[in-house]
Amino acid sequence: MSPRAYAIMHRIHHAYTDTKKDPHSPRFSKNVVAMLIRTNKIYLGIYKNTLPVDEKFMKNVPDWPAFDRWALTWKSSIFWSLFYTGYYIYFATAWWMYLLVPVHILMGPVHGTIVNWFAHKYGYRNFNVNITSRNLLPFDLVMEEEAYHNNHHKYPSRINFGGIRWHEIDPVYPIIRLLNWWGVIRLKELSVKRVETEF
Ligand SMILES: [Zn+2]
Ligand SMILES: [Zn+2]
Repeated sequence: MSPRAYAIMHRIHHAYTDTKKDPHSPRFSKNVVAMLIRTNKIYLGIYKNTLPVDEKFMKNVPDWPAFDRWALTWKSSIFWSLFYTGYYIYFATAWWMYLLVPVHILMGPVHGTIVNWFAHKYGYRNFNVNITSRNLLPFDLVMEEEAYHNNHHKYPSRINFGGIRWHEIDPVYPIIRLLNWWGVIRLKELSVKRVETEF
């Protein structure tokens, strides 16, 4: 997915959660497939600049047009599908592992569905934020912190999605801090301060 288009769509999701302007809301789609189709349409509209988007959502997003052009080609999809399949051929030790190949290839929509459909329908809440977001799993070992979706909607710019309850451990948080420490990324003061002062 294009980081630019995804970032813009995600900002719109935060700004208009559970309303008609939300790019993906279980409230306005009959089922998962309908939501995926709607999300894809909006995503492509943002990507191709055919959907009018408020200026405020467009600022400071990563914009790598050459990378995006390559990433959205069939050649790229076929290359990565073959690469993942080859990985399984080399490393898989049982037949059932191959059942994960399609999940792996379609990880973008699979991940998006779990978070944007299920984490807006099922799970527990730490914060009553007047929207449907929930923490889908008490221990999030499979979604790499994204299952703490209620926490994330309460504090969208906080880099640690967990840490509200003792069992909410965000495995990506230390990686982000490490990348920041190495200088690969640069965290904004705000997101660091929030972690230290609010909790
Ligand atoms: Zn959400
Ligand atoms: Zn978010």
